[in-house]
Amino acid sequence: MDRRLFLKGSAAGALALALAPAKLHSAGPGRATLTGDFSKAAPEAGQYDVVVCGGGPSGFIAAIAAARQGAKTAIIERYGFLGGMATMGYVAPISEFAFAGERVIGGIPWEFVQRLESMGGAFVEWPKGNVDFDIELYKLCAQRMVLEAGVDLYMHSSLIGCEMEGGSVRRVVIQNKNGLESLRAGVFIDATGDGDLAQLAGVPMQSNSDGELQPSSFCFVLSGVDTDSALLTRYMYHSGRRGSSECKPVREKLLALKAAGAPIPDFGGPWFNSVMHRGSVAVNITRTATDSTDNRNFTQAECRLREDIFTFTGLLRKHFKEFAGCYVSSCAPQAGIRESRRILGVHTVTAEEYVAGEHYPDSISRGAHQIDMHSSKGSGQVLIKLKQAAYVPYRALIAPGFPNLIVSGRCISADRKALASLRVQASCMGIGQAAGLAAVRSVRQGCAVQDIDTAALTAQLRELGAFV
Ligand SMILES: Cc1cc2nc3c(=O)[nH]c(=O)nc-3n(C[C@H](O)[C@H](O)[C@H](O)COP(=O)(O)OP(=O)(O)OC[C@H]3O[C@@H](n4cnc5c(N)ncnc54)[C@H](O)[C@@H]3O)c2cc1C
Repeated sequence: MDRRLFLKGSAAGALALALAPAKLHSAGPGRATLTGDFSKAAPEAGQYDVVVCGGGPSGFIAAIAAARQGAKTAIIERYGFLGGMATMGYVAPISEFAFAGERVIGGIPWEFVQRLESMGGAFVEWPKGNVDFDIELYKLCAQRMVLEAGVDLYMHSSLIGCEMEGGSVRRVVIQNKNGLESLRAGVFIDATGDGDLAQLAGVPMQSNSDGELQPSSFCFVLSGVDTDSALLTRYMYHSGRRGSSECKPVREKLLALKAAGAPIPDFGGPWFNSVMHRGSVAVNITRTATDSTDNRNFTQAECRLREDIFTFTGLLRKHFKEFAGCYVSSCAPQAGIRESRRILGVHTVTAEEYVAGEHYPDSISRGAHQIDMHSSKGSGQVLIKLKQAAYVPYRALIAPGFPNLIVSGRCISADRKALASLRVQASCMGIGQAAGLAAVRSVRQGCAVQDIDTAALTAQLRELGAFV
């Protein structure tokens, strides 16, 4: 069987040099193929049943789910902490566990919330089941649960390549301070948000036919804010009881200033989010169009947004007494990404079926958040309410012809509109739980991820507490 190593552009060049006789071929944008003997250049650091790439909401829950079944499991994460957008993007709250006051996502995701709550790090807002959280306690709680489940952590490690044998991923290549290393597994879960592993493996992606992507937003924490004021107590919480949580007074003032000719960058919301500490709020206001999978484009966007953080902080300080003494106490480690690659799976979830709450024979998770599409330019946002809580089928997590790859979280197979709801964290956690269990089934039954018994999977999910 022909074995090929697929690598991200720059990594491919370095490895080809280390492996003099190996041959490097271009295999599409950001992707190169290497043929030859590459096993020495990326020594095997471990052999696993399940390797999860990415330690965000969908990834760390997937890893816990797999490890608790007794599977030897590892997570690869490029930062030094877990939580993905929640902790690297300061994206809050965790939305939404409930629809019309009834919880629709359960099992390990809900256990995580309860554990975080017991540590003083979470506050659940009903009836939506939105969860405010303390960013640092979130990292600690996720880490504790993952380690207690027996998961091996490869932190500060970037996924940069994969060795393919036919359609199967044999090993993934990671880069960290040890150099290049590889991990072997029975099943790999791509929970990178951007579908990095799927893209390296050659999984076809959804075409971006309208050329649009939701914008990126660089979130930050403002301290020295009067969080006891009427303005903040009204807009800092997201129960849904008092309507939209977008802060209208600030929005209208900024739009009026802009209409009068003030040089105000594009913005969204704004949304002020509790970080569970008096005097501090996480702010979601900046926005710019960018493609996060293009390094230079994303770098430029992030630089622009960092400027905008301080522009908006100055405006808040000048025009709102509640922010008169505020300062940026921290910017998120990176700008937040709402939308990038999504696989073309066995089934693509469409907005029509999602909004209607269509149930599938292989439903594995739910969605309760309205469809929430932010415009890439200007301050607009399209919101579409769900008729009932939506379902996500297992077939959206797998691609035809890739027998040991499962995709989890925001890079599953969905159209742009359906993604605009199922990308929220509670939904991604629910998907992750199913991905972890499905991976173990595939390993145990020695069958392709396409051939697992989905009736048994959904029964197992229900036993865990999922509402599928
Ligand atoms: C501005 C903004 C506001 C949002 N608001 C909300 C909200 O209010 N409520 C809500 O619930 N959701 C919100 N979301 C959506 C939500 O945060 C994300 O869609 C969700 O976190 C996706 O989860 P995930 O696990 O799929 O991916 P991510 O959270 O993106 O996690 C992916 C993980 O993989 C790691 N990774 C990526 N590539 C590699 C690699 N090559 N090697 C190693 N590791 C890698 C990352 O470091 C990260 O830890 C918002 C998103 C943004 C950007």
